[in-house]
Amino acid sequence: MHPDISNALVVQELDLHIGGLRKEIALLPRQVAEIERQLEAHSRQLDLEKAAVANNLKERKTLDADIQVHRQKISKLKDQMMQAKTNDQYRAFQHEIDFCEKSIGACEDRILELMLAAEPLEINVKKAETALAEEKKAVEKQKSEARARTADDEAALKRALGEREDAARQVSPPVLSTYERLRVKHKDGVAIAEVVEGQCASCHMLLRPQLLVEVRAGSEVVACENCRRLLYLPIRPVDIAAEMQL
Ligand SMILES: [Zn+2]
Repeated sequence: MHPDISNALVVQELDLHIGGLRKEIALLPRQVAEIERQLEAHSRQLDLEKAAVANNLKERKTLDADIQVHRQKISKLKDQMMQAKTNDQYRAFQHEIDFCEKSIGACEDRILELMLAAEPLEINVKKAETALAEEKKAVEKQKSEARARTADDEAALKRALGEREDAARQVSPPVLSTYERLRVKHKDGVAIAEVVEGQCASCHMLLRPQLLVEVRAGSEVVACENCRRLLYLPIRPVDIAAEMQL
């Protein structure tokens, strides 16, 4: 293999590693934001459920107070009824008392309805509170894991950047600049492609026999005629064994 190619391959390996680390470092805060967003949504849902329980209780209290008012009115009406002078007056008081009693009945029906509705609401709130507490714990754990992972990645990135700088110095300037240009041009970041079964492993173009011979010889830097990536033929233990036999 041409020495520039084998040295540039070290740079490429480091660049791919650096790219992966940068991607992960950028992704982690987004993942944390997403889990926090979910937690907030669950917390808001719990607030709504608590508000439903509170409203239910508030309405029952209002109804209880209404019942008291009606009862006081009935007792007052009964006193007044004793002093009724005519049958018409008596009937009028009776009519008002009936009305108040009906109102009390309606309030009591509604209270019963509310009490029945409150039971599942309260169970829901208890369940949601437990689930939320567990979720909060899990989120805290995930956040601290993400922070640790980011710190590790950043340390690894720093190391890789240093190694990359050293490795790049081993490549001749023209090959390095070709490598840099190809690395940016190809989205996968692969500027040096392996030759597999006579093909460029990146674009699958079959190499002309002459080109294959040149790659194998390793005395020159050879580029794929289709994608322009630099080519290399890895030295495999099998090849070495075959050559030893020759
Ligand atoms: Zn190619």
